[in-house]
Amino acid sequence: MSEKYQLKKRVSVVVPLPLAKKYDYSVPQDQNIPQPGTFVRVPFSGQKVIGIVWDEENTESENCKNICPESKLKDIETIYDFPPLSKQNRDLITWTSNYTYNPIGSVAKMAFSVEDVFLKQEETYGYIRGNEDEIPKNFKWTEARQKVFINSDSNPLNMSELARKAGVSSAVVKGMVEAGVLKKQILKSVKFENPISDFKNVDLSEEQKKCADELCNDIGKGFSVTVLNGVTGSGKTEVYFEAIAKALREHKQVLIMLPEISLTGQWLRRFKERFGVMPAQWHSDLSMMVKRETWKSIINNEVQVVAGARSALFLPYNNLGLIIVDEEHDASYKQEDMVLYQARDIAVVRAKISNIPIILASATPSLETMVNVQNKKYKELILSSRFGQAQMPKINLIDMRRFPPIKYGENKNMSFISPILIDQMKETLSNNEQILLFLNRRGYAPLVLCRKCGFRFQCKNCSSWLVEHRYKNGTQLVCHHCGYHIDKPCACPECNSEDSFSACGPGVERIMEEINFLFPDARKLSISTDLNATASTMSNLMKQIYDHEVDIIVGTQILTKGHHFPDLTLVGVIDADLGLLGGDLRAGERTYQMLDQVSGRAGREKKLGQVFLQTYNPDVPVMQALQNSDKNLFYETEITDRKALSYPPFGKLASILISSPKDLLAQKFAVDIKNVFPKKVGTRLLGPSAAQMAYLRNLYRYRLLLQTKKDINLQALLHEWLDNVKVPSGVQLRVDVDPYSFG
Ligand code: ADP
Ligand code: ZN
Ligand code: ZN
Repeated sequence: MSEKYQLKKRVSVVVPLPLAKKYDYSVPQDQNIPQPGTFVRVPFSGQKVIGIVWDEENTESENCKNICPESKLKDIETIYDFPPLSKQNRDLITWTSNYTYNPIGSVAKMAFSVEDVFLKQEETYGYIRGNEDEIPKNFKWTEARQKVFINSDSNPLNMSELARKAGVSSAVVKGMVEAGVLKKQILKSVKFENPISDFKNVDLSEEQKKCADELCNDIGKGFSVTVLNGVTGSGKTEVYFEAIAKALREHKQVLIMLPEISLTGQWLRRFKERFGVMPAQWHSDLSMMVKRETWKSIINNEVQVVAGARSALFLPYNNLGLIIVDEEHDASYKQEDMVLYQARDIAVVRAKISNIPIILASATPSLETMVNVQNKKYKELILSSRFGQAQMPKINLIDMRRFPPIKYGENKNMSFISPILIDQMKETLSNNEQILLFLNRRGYAPLVLCRKCGFRFQCKNCSSWLVEHRYKNGTQLVCHHCGYHIDKPCACPECNSEDSFSACGPGVERIMEEINFLFPDARKLSISTDLNATASTMSNLMKQIYDHEVDIIVGTQILTKGHHFPDLTLVGVIDADLGLLGGDLRAGERTYQMLDQVSGRAGREKKLGQVFLQTYNPDVPVMQALQNSDKNLFYETEITDRKALSYPPFGKLASILISSPKDLLAQKFAVDIKNVFPKKVGTRLLGPSAAQMAYLRNLYRYRLLLQTKKDINLQALLHEWLDNVKVPSGVQLRVDVDPYSFG
């Protein structure tokens, strides 16, 4: 090349958009070449976006065709004076993008989800609800306004954040501000204090100490995975706190991942008791300002401990020394929207990249994890008994075929509780102890039908039945998938008969009705996710239970995780079979984990706990394993079944979901991509077939399932198959590697 042409200095940049490519930009003449990981602002198809410098040269552009011609090259607009994103963090993004078949831009976006870190305009106030007695008398309450009101009780948020949290438009929030229902509040900036490793010393039991020593030993010794497998109430938290203390003494950052719901209340209080200060937190219920400050402090190494939900995995740590995944089996670690990934699995990869230990804690580890223990890939530490005087609760099965509920009351079909459980409840109440009745189903009844003509209420946007909810101001039929709802009519829309509706099956509201009939004098509380409760309302309710201000609690899964109530001694599960119905490959596992967890709420202190599971299938392995407290029985049968079918972890799976508002378009595209599948030995492509939810939020949905042997490179196969497929407009294609949901 002639000397006259001075080539521009160029770098390749990842932009936070769903794009698989990196893009070349030139470095302005007067600037040094920014090092990889540097945050920059670049022009991108008419917009300005924040991107990350990935490589000094675009390695992909060795292939001459892909080189961006010098004349089209655009200059980087701003190079931010910020610590660059470390190589470890970038490697994690690359790995995740490859493994999950998500474009690198989408994954990178999660790593700097707080774009306004880079924009200087920082708001100084947010909105929070005022006193109820100050609300103008003539203020008109709509459903949307109520949602905003419920969601405005914790952190001050700006208008658009509050609107997003409540799921309404900003105009609704604006109207409430103008009416004086929401008040301005100056934002306090967050301060991160350093946890004190030896703030409180805890006496560990012999068994706990052995586990804690092993965990501490691994710190600073490179990559290792340890499963902390301990029964509910065995003190897993206390044990891994010791490992955190050790990491703190060595001035390392610690990441603790928790299911979102556990980040409220008890866990944080315990952390503060042990280490003197709160950890930095990361979850969806934070204001943008808190997120921004937290993100900055982490990349600047000013935060030592982060407790967060799955997205905390992609924060810009520079000095990570230990990762803990609590309740590692929890289904909420699998993100199902935007970028699909399993945070527990990626946490293990993060530990590997950083060459540090990771602890997976659970009372019922996932099957994948147990198989890794069997194969000696993971180390296992066992806590076999509850701490102190507490004993494991006794688990009893009630065979509902032999002890069905007795029909009583005006409405003869309102009973769902077996006489055996009712007797136990009476006894528990007479001992002045508490009862938890568990049913993982919101609302009053899951299905409403007309007894005359058989008509069933169905959602107009989805292929699902409407669920009856009885509110103070009337009965509604609600879709649990999309929120569509109608007032329950008086007459059947099909045959016009009046009073012909029959509510089929129970939801928590209906169980409450039965309890009100059976135990009119007991103090009762119902807790379910449709309370739309925020962190602070939730922790108030939990405190009421803790302080024994209620006798009977009826609740959905929201209650099962990690809570500790001293006087709760009886747990009744209304429909233990419910989770087995779905029939997907993890139905048995999920049911086992959920029932073990809810059972674990009983008798956590001196008083012995009892659990009663109402079931029509007392002989299936899940129920037998629970009754006999025999974890191994459960894992062994489950492993045998999965092996026989070559299901994960003994084979690989990817689900390909095709959706479109036009049924034929979706169907045709599904067949088209099936036809171009590169068939290979050891692979099998099932479908397309209509998804279980064949119609969801106005979209028709079809599924293909790719199943391969374990030694096949699934990712390479997906790339070969799908990279060059043109997705027609109006159609969406979504790849889910290691799918959990088949709905
Ligand atoms: P898990 O997470 O295994 O269900 P937790 O860590 O929540 O168990 O412990 C159960 C209860 O026992 C908690 O109230 C905890 O504070 C208490 N506990 C566990 N170990 C100890 C200990 N060594 N000293 C004092 N209290 C303990
Ligand atoms: Zn009818
Ligand atoms: Zn719907």
